[in-house]
Parts: sequence; structure tokens; C-alpha cells
Amino acid sequence: MSLDHQQVWGNCLKMIKDVVGDQAFNTWFDPIIPLKLEDDILTIQVPSQFFYEWLEEHYVHILRDVIYQELGNDGKLEYSIVIDRGNSEFKPYTINIPTSKRRDFKSKQDEQNGNSNDIRDIFKYDFQLNRNYTFETFIEGDCNRLARSAGYAVAQRPGITSFNPLMVYGGVGLGKTHLAQAIGNDIIQNIPGKSVIYVPAEKFTQQFIESVKINKIQEFQNFYNKIDILILDDVQFLSGREKTQEIFFHIFNHLHQLGKQIIMTSDCPPKDLKGLEERLLSRFKWGLTADLQQPDFETRIAIIQKKMQADGINIPENVLEYLAYSVDTNIRELEGVLISLIAHGSLMKRDIDLELAKQTLKTIIHDIDTEVSIDYIQKTIAEYFHLKIEDLKDKTRKKEVVIARQLAMYFSKEYTNHSLKSIGYHFGGRDHSTVIHAVQTVNDMYDVDNRFRSSVDELKKKLKMKSV
Ligand code: ADP
Ligand code: MG
Repeated sequence: MSLDHQQVWGNCLKMIKDVVGDQAFNTWFDPIIPLKLEDDILTIQVPSQFFYEWLEEHYVHILRDVIYQELGNDGKLEYSIVIDRGNSEFKPYTINIPTSKRRDFKSKQDEQNGNSNDIRDIFKYDFQLNRNYTFETFIEGDCNRLARSAGYAVAQRPGITSFNPLMVYGGVGLGKTHLAQAIGNDIIQNIPGKSVIYVPAEKFTQQFIESVKINKIQEFQNFYNKIDILILDDVQFLSGREKTQEIFFHIFNHLHQLGKQIIMTSDCPPKDLKGLEERLLSRFKWGLTADLQQPDFETRIAIIQKKMQADGINIPENVLEYLAYSVDTNIRELEGVLISLIAHGSLMKRDIDLELAKQTLKTIIHDIDTEVSIDYIQKTIAEYFHLKIEDLKDKTRKKEVVIARQLAMYFSKEYTNHSLKSIGYHFGGRDHSTVIHAVQTVNDMYDVDNRFRSSVDELKKKLKMKSV
């Protein structure tokens, strides 16, 4: 059967998208154009040398896996690089993906020859651990200290510490998957002979459903019963799936009894997990539950520095600070911004400077005009009044500090989506009524005091300028 290059690449993209996430997908895979498929060699066109290097550096394993998946054992990938934009002559640059590290996939032919009700098929999509997710690359901060050190202890002595199961929870993009995989990577590196399986709960569920279809539930269970370290990512996905929960319950008990390590992640604390059976929830409490919080400013700076360093890219201090101030939601978003910034710089053949950073941020964070961060507001106000940011958070009752603090609260209420409670929290743990009072005071003074009004207007402009 002859396959078409568009079709093959389309299938590859579907798998890649699952693995790399939207931001990386849009930046690095969307711009790729499939050119031809000849002799099991798929040729894809990438926009620059830098793109090619980036793909090879960061995504070679995934690319290799999907190509084998689609084209079988002899599948290869070649890149054609557009050397000069605006010039239709492409100088092709060809490399082959080495076949030596192939995992035990069944080839396309085997599948086409029937015999597809093999339990191995069910596990064929399990992509390996991401090698970049290590403790070394996981920056420590107040936001993750407990979870990180518990994870580290588990990695040194899996199944032996009392942290079994280890349950890590936290909001989206805060590092659950990274930390869970760091444990897996560490064990593989340092304790030979241990079998580690990382599986997102969603994939676990799919595998289970497939095994039910081909009547191989026992084999499914046997597969999981045999491993030494089980990492189940995003357990909240099991909610409402009774049968999958039941089989997981049995696997859990089996592994736990044998002293095998279980690591789980969840997007909320176990007590808030809806649709999970009580008997399963009670198991989760046997070990340790640790949370990941939003990173503070210093941790964000450290994360950006580390990522840039890893990619051998220098960014000026002011860009670093600008990014850390502007993106305070989660680390995935911060990374997305960095990746786009690097890509923009490379495509536009420009150094990374503040202007490029602002432009890039504008294209990514749509509501940036209305949404600035509390950090950024505090910084702007502190600078304007020649104060330290800490002054806005501590208890000083000096008049000029009080006014600055009230203004910062006022702008936080006007320009962010934070609740009154959350705003109070960002100002040294103050009460929500203090924030209400601040907003009222600013409104009152704005109406009666001309000088104050022009300061407020000036600050408004400054805060809005941020995205221009
Ligand atoms: P989650 O699973 O909680 O949604 P991820 O583990 O996927 O989050 O993390 C999102 C991105 O942020 C990943 O690329 C990860 O490497 C990065 N990241 C998260 N926490 C840290 C950290 N403490 N240090 C460095 N990078 C981090
Ligand atoms: Mg995750």
C-alpha cells in the first residue's frame, strides 16, 4: 500500500501533539511542511537551520518514535532546510535518524498481516520518559521544596521510605509531570535493574479499554503487577471511571504489598478529587501528599536563567526581569514565552532585546492589555515613589508608603483578575477589607485632589504601556 507524505506526516503530528503540548507544537511543528515520501524516507521542510537544530536537540526521540510507528523499521526522516527566505531555491540538508535505539515496536507490516490482538500493541504508544525532566533541571524554590525533597528521597530509596505512595498535587503547568519523571529518570540512572513505568492516567485508561476489547484484562494487569516503580500522572483523570479505578486499585494493592514504589500526581488535593472511590482515596493517604505552588519572582528568574543557559542563549538582564514580572501564572506558560521568543529572534534574525520580548508577549498573551500582574504593579508603583517593593508589603504606616500601597492595591483590583482576598495576600497577608478600603480611598482622593489625580493617570499610562 502506498502511503502519501501528507497523510503520514498528519498521523505523526497527531501523536506529537499529544506529547509536546500546544505551545511547543505550534512553535516547532506547525511550520513544518511535508515534502515527499520515497523509499520509506519522509522529507520535511523546516524554516531554518536553527529550527532543524532545535528539533534534533529537543525532539529527536519523539520524531524517531513516530516515524517508526508510521513507516516501520526502515522509516527515516530527512530535513530540507530553507536557507534563505524569499528565495525559492532550497538547499536540502539531509540527515537520517539512526535506527540503533529502536524499541520493540511491531512494524507496520506485522500489523497489516493481521494478528493485531496482541497485548504488546496496547503499550506501543508509551513514549519513554523525557530525559530533560531531571532533578538537576528542576529548580528549587519555596513553592516546591517539600515536594522536591520528598521526590528526591523516594528516588534514592524507592519503596523503602514511608512516602509510598507519593502524591504530588498542584495546578496546571507547575511541574508535576517534570518532578514525577525526574524521580523515574533518577532511578533508571542510579539503580540498575529497576523497571520504571511512567503513564498518564488517561493513557492508562485507554490501554485498559483496549485490553478489555481484545479480552486481555489479565495480561494488562500482569504487565503492571510486574513493575518496580509505577508513576501515574494526572490521577484526576480516573474520576468517574469505575472499572479503570477498580483495576488500578488491585494493581496498587499488589505493588504496595510487595514494597514497590507508587508515585502519583493530581491537579488538586486528594480530598477534593471528585468521582474517585473512597477505598482508592484512602490508599492515597497512606504515604505522603505534597503540593506545588505558583513560583515566586526569584524562582521564576532562576528558571528562566537555567532554561536559557541550557540552550546556550544569552538574554539581557532587563529582558529577564521583564519576563519574570510579566508571566506569573505558571511555568509552562513562562517556558512557552521563552520558546516563542527564541523562535522569533531566530526567524527575524534579531538579538533578543526588550522590544522583541514585548512584541512576542503581545502575540501570546492576548489579554495582556487588561491583565498585568500584581508583581508588575508593585514594581511600577515602588519605582514611581522611590520605595522598595517590600515597603508595600510590610506594616509601615508612613504616609507616603500608605498611599503607594493603597494605589498598588487599587491597580491590582482594576487591572488583574485576582480576588480581594488574593490581593490582600500579595500585600503581606492583609485582609480583604483592607483592599476594599484602599480602593475607596483612591477613588475619593482622585475626585478631590488634582495632583493625586495626575499621578494616578500617569501610573495608568505606565501600566498600560507595558504591552506596547
Ligand atoms: P504540570 O504537569 O504540573 O502541568 P509540567 O511538569 O508539565 O507541569 O511543567 C510545565 C513545564 O514547566 C515543563 O516544561 C517543566 O520542565 C517546567 N517546570 C516546572 N517546574 C519547574 C521547575 N521547578 N524548574 C524548572 N522547570 C520547571
Ligand atoms: Mg502534567
